Amino acid sequence: EFDVLVVGGGPAGASAAIYAARKGLRTGIVADKFGGQVSETVGIENFISVKATEGPKLVANLEEHVKDYDVDIMDGQRASRLINGRNFQLELESGAQLSSKTVLIATGARWREMNVPGEQEYRGKGVAYCPHCDGPLFKGKRVAVIGGGNSGIEAAIDLAGIVEHVTVLEFDSKLRADEVLQTKANSMGNIDIITQAQTTEVVGDGARVQGLNYTNRATGETHHIELAGIFVQIGLVPNTEWIKDGILMNSRGEIVVDNKGQTSIPGVFAAGDVTDSAYKQIIIAMGSGANASLGAFDYMIRLEEP
Ligand code: FAD
Repeated sequence: EFDVLVVGGGPAGASAAIYAARKGLRTGIVADKFGGQVSETVGIENFISVKATEGPKLVANLEEHVKDYDVDIMDGQRASRLINGRNFQLELESGAQLSSKTVLIATGARWREMNVPGEQEYRGKGVAYCPHCDGPLFKGKRVAVIGGGNSGIEAAIDLAGIVEHVTVLEFDSKLRADEVLQTKANSMGNIDIITQAQTTEVVGDGARVQGLNYTNRATGETHHIELAGIFVQIGLVPNTEWIKDGILMNSRGEIVVDNKGQTSIPGVFAAGDVTDSAYKQIIIAMGSGANASLGAFDYMIRLEEP
């Protein structure tokens, strides 16, 4: 039986496990894939105190740090259900069941993809999902933002300060972003907005993105735009499908937490991209993992012994 059972082995889960183990708690990590989104990241330049690193390298460092403590790492295991009781039971897809006094959910999120030809091929070679992360790589170049919701228009405003030109492509006939953001975007000289545009293909030379094709949904005409980068901003989906019910989530399916990282179920904590935190970054996920872990410790020391 565990004191703290962490579900997820990304930066939030790794940080939470280290903090728990350092309190002398019996700690386990169940992870589908240790490292999480960081494993898919090429360059990382905003992990403060490390000027530049690469995803797989940071994952190796994370693993080395966690393994320095007495943490039971169960990699390659997916959680399928959480059952409340005096102790929590975590069911795995393998059929195994783990018991713990507290559970810390850090199953992260995934970016919604366009699902068009070229998107996978040029991922990290011009197709990007995070303007905070990859914006500076396109300094002085032309880029597109796919999606005209709040995150798309925020990304366009952010990028317009760095790159030469931004084209926003929105599928619908109007933008869904807040009025104030639309006004700001329209006031910037280097943002063009195209509505009723369905992106159909990412085009490149084999090594890097060179442009994209889209169809004007009103006329049916096909167009080509030359550019160096494509930021896909059509939603971040939290990995909460496995939690059937019982935990308070917001309209986006993100787990709502309090300032100690506790969810609506006492003893169940959450951290990182799976929560309703305003921003999703490695350094933020690690901070919230530490915070939730300390929250779990606080909860544990108040538990009455049977
Ligand atoms: P994740 O990293 O998503 O980890 C989730 C963990 O949970 C994984 O181990 C996963 O296998 C596991 N899991 C999921 N479901 C289950 C389940 N049912 N059972 C068991 N385990 C499960 N941020 C930056 O700060 N700088 C950057 O430069 C940067 N670049 C990025 C580039 C890309 C391509 C991507 C995708 C993201 C980037 N980010 C960057 C964002 C950053 O990676 C995330 O904010 C961060 O990884 C979130 O950490 P997390 O631990 O909350 O979740």
